Amino acid sequence: MSAEKFISGTCKGEKCTICKKPATKKLGEEIAHDDPNPIRHNLTAYVCDDHFDMIVRPYVKKSNQLQNKDIKHATTPRKRWNGEPIKRTKYPR
Ligand SMILES: [Zn+2]
Repeated sequence: MSAEKFISGTCKGEKCTICKKPATKKLGEEIAHDDPNPIRHNLTAYVCDDHFDMIVRPYVKKSNQLQNKDIKHATTPRKRWNGEPIKRTKYPR
C-alpha cells in the first residue's frame, strides 16, 4: 500500500468550495428516509483538507471521547430529576 495520502480522482480539477484551494475530499448530504423526494441526488461539495477537518474533525474527536471510558460524563451514572439513579438493562435484553 502506498504511503501517499489517497485523493479520489473525483477531486481532480475541483476547488474547495470555501477557500478555492485544490479539493482533496468530496462531502455529500445524507438523504433521510423521510425526505419528500428520497430518490433525488444528494447535495455535494468539494473541500480541501483544512476545511474537511474544520467540518468533520470536531465530531470525530467528540465521538472518540464518548467511547473513552475515562471521560467523566460517559461513566457518571445518569439520574432522574429527583436524584434516583436510572437503572438500565444491558444489551441484549
Ligand atoms: Zn478549503
